[in-house]
Amino acid sequence: RKLGYAIVGLGTYGLGVIIPQFVNCTHSRLVAVVTGDAAKGRKVAAEHGLSDKAVYSYATFDSIRDNPDVDIVYVCLPNSMHAEYTIRAAKAGKHVMCEKPMAISVAECESMIAACKAAKRKLMIGYRCHFEAFNLEAMRLARAGAAGKIRYVRSEHGFVQRDPSKWRLKRALAGGGSLMDMGVYSLQAARYMTGEEPIAVTARESTDRSDPRFHEVEDMIEWTLEFPSGAIAGCQSMYSANQNHILLMGDTGRIELEPATRYDGNHMWTGRDGRERELTPPPGPRATQFAGQLDHLAECILTGREPIVSGEEGLRDMRIVEAIYRSAREGRTIRLDGRA
Ligand code: NAD
Repeated sequence: RKLGYAIVGLGTYGLGVIIPQFVNCTHSRLVAVVTGDAAKGRKVAAEHGLSDKAVYSYATFDSIRDNPDVDIVYVCLPNSMHAEYTIRAAKAGKHVMCEKPMAISVAECESMIAACKAAKRKLMIGYRCHFEAFNLEAMRLARAGAAGKIRYVRSEHGFVQRDPSKWRLKRALAGGGSLMDMGVYSLQAARYMTGEEPIAVTARESTDRSDPRFHEVEDMIEWTLEFPSGAIAGCQSMYSANQNHILLMGDTGRIELEPATRYDGNHMWTGRDGRERELTPPPGPRATQFAGQLDHLAECILTGREPIVSGEEGLRDMRIVEAIYRSAREGRTIRLDGRA
């Protein structure tokens, strides 16, 4: 059976990336859209064989509860709107896929988890890299000891922001700067590549506040995570250069991905002290990482399992994000393991 998705927010990601992916899915189909632009909504609906009844506005969103075709609401809105639409979707009796970052604070993440729990609905975060062939293969190789004991991880993600008027550069909508966007990939990679939870973080920020793009949010932020095994991750994100790189250094070799977490066109190498062998990973679970992600939640609902990237996983990241900002602000290491 295919479960029905309602896509909330017909922007670059919801409309441009996610909606075209349903053709690659086995258990998921598009059944509704939620948009502030009714004409755009009707056009998208018609293109996908849906009636005008499948088009909701933000004002009529709650009536989605009366639409039995909608099993899952996929929130593709600016970050500050994730919590509100996740909670409203859960109250309407729908399961939720929410884009990254899960929300803009730990408190919001906790209320989203509580709302989905109270409604007995599943909550998954759009962490597509967990379904992406190169990242899956790097995780497998790292766990199998292909580079020996992992001692150090580098993870850098960024892209150039040009337009100061964009919501990503407004604190109220984005919750922060590059860390709230590409920084989530750097942080996630450090955690899923090591398979460990960090015990301490030390961060610093570098932003030209006279640049009109960065009046409200940070440009570059760099942070070091310490893991229980002794491994260290040097992570970074920025909005003033394009970068997309993950490097795992073990005591017998290395695994490197660049670009590492793109929609497509990723590359990976192994070697002793350089890029000695380029690898082509086996295919991921579905035709694309997006289809893998969409179908994973549908399968979890159909079989009563918890998503591998549930709300709790988004909350774990947000706790670290808050600690990164605090460390940069206060100029000191923040413990994450409760020790003083
Ligand atoms: P976008 O600006 O292209 O689209 C945002 C959508 O939200 C638009 O349709 C816009 O009309 C709507 N919207 C509703 N209220 C708004 C408001 N008050 N201000 C601005 N827009 C409003 O953004 P996007 O790139 O599609 O990002 C949406 C979400 O998806 C973000 O949380 C982002 O982090 C996430 N995202 C994830 C990935 C990924 O690879 N997983 C990639 C891109 C974006």
